[in-house]
Amino acid sequence: MTEPVKRVYAFGKDAQGNNVTEGNTTMKATLGGKGANLAEMANIGLPVPPGFTISCQTCMEYANAGNVWPEGVLDTIHEYRLDLEDRIGKKIGDAEDPLLVSVRSGAPMSMPGMMDTVLNLGLNDESIIGLIKQTENPRFAWDSYRRFIQMFSNVVMGLDGDLFENAINAMKAVRGVKSDTDLTAEDLQELVAEFKGIFTENVSGEEYPALVVDGSVQFPQDPMVQLKLAIEAVFGSWNNPRAVLYRKKNKISDDLGTAVNVQCMVFGNKGNTSATGVAFTRNPANGAKEFYGDYLVNAQGEDVVAGIRNTSPIADLKHVEGLEEAGRELEEIFVLLENHFHDMMDIEFTIEQGKLFMLQTRVGKRTAAAALHIAIDMEKEGLIDKKEAVRRVAPDQLDQLLHPQFDKNADYDVLARGLNASPGAAVGEAVFSSADAVAAAEAGRKCVLVRWETNPDDLAGMIAAEGILTSHGGKTSHAAVIARGMGAPCVCGVEALKIDAEKKQATVAGTDVVIKEGDMISLDGTSGIVVLGAVDLVMPELTGDLDTILEWADEFRKLGVRANADNPEDAKLSRDFGASGIGLCRTEHMFLGERKQIIQTFILNDDDAVREKAVGELFEAQTGDFYGMFKEMDGLPVIVRLLDPPLHEFLESPRALDVEIARLEATGGDKTLIAEKRMLMERIDGFAEQNPMLGLRGCRLGIVYPILPEMQVRAIATATAKLKKEGLDPKPEIMIPLVSTVAELEKLRAVAEKIIAEVAAEEGVELDIEVGTMIELPRAAVTADEIATQADFFSFGTNDLTQTTFGFSRDDVEAEFVPQYLQEHLLPYNPFATIDPGVAKLVEMGVKLGHEGNPDLVCGVCGEHGGDPDSIHTFNKIGLDYVSCSPYRVPVARLAAAQAALEEE
Ligand code: PEP
Ligand code: MG
Repeated sequence: MTEPVKRVYAFGKDAQGNNVTEGNTTMKATLGGKGANLAEMANIGLPVPPGFTISCQTCMEYANAGNVWPEGVLDTIHEYRLDLEDRIGKKIGDAEDPLLVSVRSGAPMSMPGMMDTVLNLGLNDESIIGLIKQTENPRFAWDSYRRFIQMFSNVVMGLDGDLFENAINAMKAVRGVKSDTDLTAEDLQELVAEFKGIFTENVSGEEYPALVVDGSVQFPQDPMVQLKLAIEAVFGSWNNPRAVLYRKKNKISDDLGTAVNVQCMVFGNKGNTSATGVAFTRNPANGAKEFYGDYLVNAQGEDVVAGIRNTSPIADLKHVEGLEEAGRELEEIFVLLENHFHDMMDIEFTIEQGKLFMLQTRVGKRTAAAALHIAIDMEKEGLIDKKEAVRRVAPDQLDQLLHPQFDKNADYDVLARGLNASPGAAVGEAVFSSADAVAAAEAGRKCVLVRWETNPDDLAGMIAAEGILTSHGGKTSHAAVIARGMGAPCVCGVEALKIDAEKKQATVAGTDVVIKEGDMISLDGTSGIVVLGAVDLVMPELTGDLDTILEWADEFRKLGVRANADNPEDAKLSRDFGASGIGLCRTEHMFLGERKQIIQTFILNDDDAVREKAVGELFEAQTGDFYGMFKEMDGLPVIVRLLDPPLHEFLESPRALDVEIARLEATGGDKTLIAEKRMLMERIDGFAEQNPMLGLRGCRLGIVYPILPEMQVRAIATATAKLKKEGLDPKPEIMIPLVSTVAELEKLRAVAEKIIAEVAAEEGVELDIEVGTMIELPRAAVTADEIATQADFFSFGTNDLTQTTFGFSRDDVEAEFVPQYLQEHLLPYNPFATIDPGVAKLVEMGVKLGHEGNPDLVCGVCGEHGGDPDSIHTFNKIGLDYVSCSPYRVPVARLAAAQAALEEE
């Protein structure tokens, strides 16, 4: 109103019933998701309690100035408050008919339950009288006042919630009653006085001098003071630890800030014709087209989400006396919202004495299975087109579908049943606190977090645990919503479970089972089953929905998707998942087990005859390996990388040998054996390098030991010839790793071509095997024009390229200092997971120069980044031909590649 920068926006109607909303759904960056959609709902005529939204930018300005209000905002808020009072015809703090407001956070990206909310604001010693008059319900009024003091003290002033819970419990004990609802109006009035006393005792006058009256801190009576403090608390909650952690996990920027919505209160706790609930327009667990959610009669706001009382299903609402009409209206609104937003929406509503109010709507979070199903159904219903359907599924979410399930053949007894809140199965040790879950995960132990209910403080434990089990709460409880968002299996509302978090154990009603900390338990979030002990898990079958979406994705994507695989089983899996070839077969993975012994013999012997025999054995084994791989991938390219790692990786650890020698000596072991071991150790020591990753590895190995690439190429060519003779169509390609100069590639290419020609002549078949290289070193990228003259293809090894561009040891830094770098914002994200822009520039340069040297050059990427959706967007922009990733990431990469292509349109 008076400010040059607009920071406050009205929503809802004025006193005459005109819509005075100033925002809409496109303004999420300013109004936050909640504020923008409250505005939108008001604009389309839905019953939204009026209010106003303070912008996210105001929150950031306030925070960046060290919690100082930008000039003029408080005046504007005051004006909007007066305007709201005019619109509703009531005044905050009024002793006759008071207006009460809620103060809620709402960031641009949904962060459910992470930030703060204050309800019933505006109650004080005068307005309580007005509330009693208006409602003729003193019990309700005093209950509202005690809830307000409790919430304000906890959320705004940071007092321990237990101080108040203990007082309630003490009161219940004295009155001899069990439930809060058994307390009378007089009891609650007494509690209000007690709560004010707790406030006075626990809030520091030095910290809050404005709250000191007659020498002691008093619960603030001035509604404007209440409002200012509540807004400050919501602003501050943007930076509380759980919100920061949530943003980090969900890659949400710290600079967005949260909006604050100040909205007229409506009450779901005004008796049996009042209710409150949360709902989804479709089933968020499996995507079925049905109304889904829970409600509670005679309850307020957070009661449903907090899972404190057990709820009823939303479909029953329209059959409940006094709530029928609101129930029917709600179902009409579900349809209207879907038609308006073209998506599955989640909703918070309250029914106050039979009248429905919409408190929130946003695009509903859903499991991967539901996301696929809903996208396909909506395309069929004409709500969205195929491209939009492909955009609707988050690639990372597909991981959920590849989650383990209980093996159908496994033998187990069901210990208890609850709600199937988030699909997938988990097995782990029972832990009873978030901290214990984190500790178990850090110690490398799998755990299941068992809680009565979860709350936002449990987030770290929920992330650390394999699965989540709660004894209370519905499918929209905190545990359920967060678990689904994370893709973690969750069973909630297991009523038979009696949890004693302090003793770190749980009993199961109707059994004599006691689950103690550390006991193995299994849960199946798809069916809601809990089992004592570890059940065998299997990977699930892919659903038809996934195939459909991926087929649609394939219509739009430009990037090819190959897989990194080095055995026939993984090759088959990749092919089943839709890979169009193998982008990287790491042959060193074929030298494990018994084969390790053979290569050790080769490395550690000077005798040429012994060496040649070892190489002969390796040739036999490799020929078999390649035969299996090429057969599985018949007709599709298979890039085989020649041996890459430093040789010492195949040798025993000298430290372990040292220990063994010492042990043999101490126990009087065989002298010859000790002497042999000593010699072995000396030889192994001879292979030690200061920086093995920068040492004798990659193509350098082939140059120093030409017998190795000769053997490998001969095995590739022989397997190919054999398959050709069998009438198949093998398509191997040979890849030379870690090249830094064109001369290296030229030399090894010549070796490969010579051997291929020899085998072709010996076998009498035509062999047309391409030879290319990996671009893993900055020098290779910047001289790609020269290198490409010797290469049929490039594959960017972005793991090594990241290592060598940053000078970061890939095996060490992720544990050593990358976490700190992330925390201090020295890096925006882990460059070994998502491609760094600097490394991407080298890739781009490599592609451009490479095509100058060889216009037909095929370019792909085979580092870990090949399966990362964000990196895939970058590679699509650069114009690579394909990405290659681990088999299970292939579906993810197909979808991400399509979305990247659609983004470019
Ligand atoms: C790479 O460096 O990106 C790569 C794929 O090779 P490796 O991870 O085997 O070093
Ligand atoms: Mg590499």
